Amino acid sequence: MKLPIYMDNHATTRVDPRVLERMLPFFSDDFGNAASRNHPFGWKAEAAVEAAREEVGQLIGASGREIVFTSGATESDNLAILGVAEFYQSKGSHFITQPTEHKAVLDTLKVLERRGASVTYLPVDRTGLVRPEAVEAALTDKTVLVTIMAANNEVGTLQPLAEIGAICRKKGVLFHTDAAQGAGKFDFDVEAMNVDLVSLSAHKLYGPKGVGALYVRRKNPRVRLSPTMHGGGHERGMRSGTLNVPGIVGFGEAARICREELAHEIAHTQALRERLYATLTKELTHLTLNGHPTLRLPGNLNLSFAFVEGEALMMAMKDIAVSSGSACTSASLEPSYVLRALGVPEELAHSSIRFGIGRFNTEAEVDYVASKVITGVKKLRAMSPLYEMAQEGVGSASASFQAP
Ligand SMILES: *Cc1c(COP(=O)(O)O)cnc(C)c1O
Repeated sequence: MKLPIYMDNHATTRVDPRVLERMLPFFSDDFGNAASRNHPFGWKAEAAVEAAREEVGQLIGASGREIVFTSGATESDNLAILGVAEFYQSKGSHFITQPTEHKAVLDTLKVLERRGASVTYLPVDRTGLVRPEAVEAALTDKTVLVTIMAANNEVGTLQPLAEIGAICRKKGVLFHTDAAQGAGKFDFDVEAMNVDLVSLSAHKLYGPKGVGALYVRRKNPRVRLSPTMHGGGHERGMRSGTLNVPGIVGFGEAARICREELAHEIAHTQALRERLYATLTKELTHLTLNGHPTLRLPGNLNLSFAFVEGEALMMAMKDIAVSSGSACTSASLEPSYVLRALGVPEELAHSSIRFGIGRFNTEAEVDYVASKVITGVKKLRAMSPLYEMAQEGVGSASASFQAP
């Protein structure tokens, strides 16, 4: 086992060696511009891009012709929201979303609000779920887009996409989902879920950073977008700019591996997650699971360790890479806005740790992490006067039950 251990796979993932292998020739001999139509360098690059486009499409049950390559899910979210807002402005400017979205969605919607659009933020329950009936109730004849993420990047909650998609389809409103965390992690199908726009990111599924895609439905209905990047008319005019050929090739290979190995991957990450959770709950008291008990990403475990600062716990296990609920927007001391939206009290939000288990984690690593967390939490609690008081409280309460 090699230290440090990486268990922060919602932040980014290691490039799969098979992905890197496929990318390498496109940095050297096969360096052509995919838009060069008149020589073999261009043809080879274009053929590789088109093969990758098919692979990325297949991962989500779409055709390659519906895939627009971008620089990542942030750009895809911007293109989906700003592109729909501009193209459909004659229909209206009402948007529906929910508060645990990634900032790439929330901040883009804020831009539209400043330009006069109205945005409905649907509440989430304690597990992070949006109610499909709430989506239906919020729709108006001015609603142009519903945007609800597939899987949350902090607590892993999976939203009821198929139910929301059915409602949007019935009402003729476009449905976008940020699936940066979802695609490749569970069965994702644009037809079954009736989604019209999907944001994807290669580096969340063992591909390279700086490349992503936006799925744009081509029929039933055909979705139209105004571009946000103008220039040479690449990607059918929706996203100009010379294509990142090595990145796209890597994205395609990463998507192929995710699709072919999905069942195994789910079983692997879920088993490790259950092992970690079982060991921690056996050895530690006062743990709370953040997010949904079952409707969650298979590799996600988000726990609050009462009476312990998440940051302090991370300091106590420096050879383990995880995230804490107080450090998400690093410079600020605000606790995670996602946990706050779920109604997690501030102290518990500050004591939360996100474990993101991925393809390359092993049982030995999980056991090492568990033992480090247990030691760290016990040590920090031993120094906490609040924990001591709580223990005494529990002691006297149980004593009062014991009849003399
Ligand atoms: C990582 C992430 C993004 C941003 O993706 P980039 O490709 O890094 O721009 C957007 N949404 C969610 C849910 C993410 O997890």
